[in-house]
Amino acid sequence: MILNTPKIIIAGPCAAESREQLFETAKEIFDLHINSQCSPCGDALSKKEVGFWDFCFFRAGIWKARTNPNDFQGVGEDAFPWLKEIKEKFGFTICVEVASAEHARCCLENHIDAVWIGARTTVNPFLVQEIADTLQHSSLTVFVKNPINPDLTLWIGAIQRFLNAGIKQVMAVHRGFSIENENVYRNAPCWEIPVALKMKLPNIPLLCDISHIAGNVSLQQIVAQTAINYGFDGLMAEVHHEPQKALSDSKQQLLPAQFSHLLKTIRFPSTNNPADNSLFIQRNLIKNIDIQISSLLCKRMEIVDEIAVIKAKHTLPAVQPDQWKKVVAIYEENALQDDHYKQFLEEFLLLLHKSSLKRQE
Ligand code: PEP
Ligand code: MN
Repeated sequence: MILNTPKIIIAGPCAAESREQLFETAKEIFDLHINSQCSPCGDALSKKEVGFWDFCFFRAGIWKARTNPNDFQGVGEDAFPWLKEIKEKFGFTICVEVASAEHARCCLENHIDAVWIGARTTVNPFLVQEIADTLQHSSLTVFVKNPINPDLTLWIGAIQRFLNAGIKQVMAVHRGFSIENENVYRNAPCWEIPVALKMKLPNIPLLCDISHIAGNVSLQQIVAQTAINYGFDGLMAEVHHEPQKALSDSKQQLLPAQFSHLLKTIRFPSTNNPADNSLFIQRNLIKNIDIQISSLLCKRMEIVDEIAVIKAKHTLPAVQPDQWKKVVAIYEENALQDDHYKQFLEEFLLLLHKSSLKRQE
């Protein structure tokens, strides 16, 4: 029994730099035979319980959105004949970044198969709409990366613009977010945001750009494994035949062999529930607790409404800090002592207080 549907792979260099660099990288990726690689699935018991990769797209940025205007800006349209050659020679489906209607028009003219909308473009609904209008009803696949800032609705809005334009194959790419105080990743993964996207748009395949989240080679394995554990539909990775010479993002580009090793060592979560019913039993316990929590929350809110009426009648202030401290003390008395729970409680109480105050308004 094959347990998993194949996971989509987009791989290739950050940027097209020269014909030789593109060709050599493409050849080395071709030689990996990614589509015949597989990975163990959970506690794989038999050889058949594996996950498969489906290398669908060769990526290469030709217009590069760089922070510094003096850095390499991409080779632009010069790359189209090189990409055409790679498509013909290796049978790859070609994917480039577009950041304007003009870029999109050039891609249509040059028969590019797929485009991605970069994080700096997704933030701008005017630009996204112009690109969507240009690509209207074309057969290109469109990948929409998340906006730089952690804004789920902006990401969904951009995806929606391409769906509205009649693009048949639209996919989302999670590339992490630029947030303050992030010192592990180049771009903070904030996994709850792509997971929320998946729940809201279950039919839109969701991929993880492991390179731009990690920002280096060593973290990409864990980022990729986490994405697969969360049920992502595939991975995007920057792969270069000589990363140390790359003209952009050199620290995060993988050698083809490193990429191959990463794919082979990722474990796919099993889709088989344990035979002993242990998961079923625990889920039922949780279900009963959730029923109680949800009914108690409703009752609590109703009492908040009654308190609001009493306060209004006696012109008492909405916020009474001493009273709130008593509520906090009740939760703290019964708290689990680990840091994760303390953090949860802090956020939960903040939300509880905020919504109580809102109702009282
Ligand atoms: C890229 O994929 O090369 C790129 C520039 O990505 P992002 O828009 O995620 O920064
Ligand atoms: Mn890059």
